[in-house]
Amino acid sequence: MSAAEFSPVLLSQLPELRSGHVWLAGAGPGDPGLLTVLALAALARADVVVHDALVDARVLELARPAARLVPAGKRGGGPSVAQTDITGQLIAFARQGLRVLRLKGGDPCVFGRAGEEALALAAHGIPFRIIPGITAGLGAMAAALIPATMRGVSQAILFATGASADDGADGSLDWAAVARLDQPIVLYMAITRITAIQQRLLAGGMPADMPAAVVHAATMQEQSLLITTLVGLVEDLRASALAPPAIVVIGRIVSVRARLLELLPLLEKEAGTWPLPR
Ligand code: SAH
Repeated sequence: MSAAEFSPVLLSQLPELRSGHVWLAGAGPGDPGLLTVLALAALARADVVVHDALVDARVLELARPAARLVPAGKRGGGPSVAQTDITGQLIAFARQGLRVLRLKGGDPCVFGRAGEEALALAAHGIPFRIIPGITAGLGAMAAALIPATMRGVSQAILFATGASADDGADGSLDWAAVARLDQPIVLYMAITRITAIQQRLLAGGMPADMPAAVVHAATMQEQSLLITTLVGLVEDLRASALAPPAIVVIGRIVSVRARLLELLPLLEKEAGTWPLPR
């Protein structure tokens, strides 16, 4: 089924991606079922889709067949297109009168640089919209049966980039303060910095046995899951050979998963798989 066939009635009620406009949209974490209807409508309309490496191939297949797909953005350490080149491309496509969809993994504004792109578009007088998406952190928690928040367990949730644990990172996080909060921490881009993150949280007084989860390729076909503790994180991650892209969740909330599995033994067979079989 193509996006255009999805629901003509619903699609006809949505704002249209117009010629010369840019939509900065989130594609969600992977599973096309987690796209927003607005992102789906934009895929059905766009002349050009400038997409990140992390956008799932199944989502790109929903683009209008005549649409031009332009890869942009980088994938952990791989070759990257400079941010100025991407914004330059978006502006040039819009000025050609094309309907431009800038599609990013997860939510476009969560560690996604849509803020910079929106500023550049605005500065050049290009009309744009921001279409939110399901960020990988929320997708990963749902796929791993870990509630994002829960009364009696957490009162806040912190989305953070692991990059801020790099030595000399600009704009670093106060990891000791994070450790003291006793609220779930959802870490992006954390796998290659996991040792520094673990050390900072332990040094900040977070209990060594704090539950932790790593979700690789959340809601994608190759999704896999590791459940461990703060102190076990580095070793277990090494042994599991889980690679980026992955989300690391650290907090008491992670143990809700085990409680759910205990209550629903049938789910156990499906643990770590998304979506559950139809
Ligand atoms: N804008 C994106 C995040 C981009 S930063 C969002 O809102 O999700 C890139 C990081 O996102 C990766 O290093 C990884 O930590 C995380 N990520 C993105 N997609 C993911 C997925 N399907 N599973 C696990 N982690 C993912």
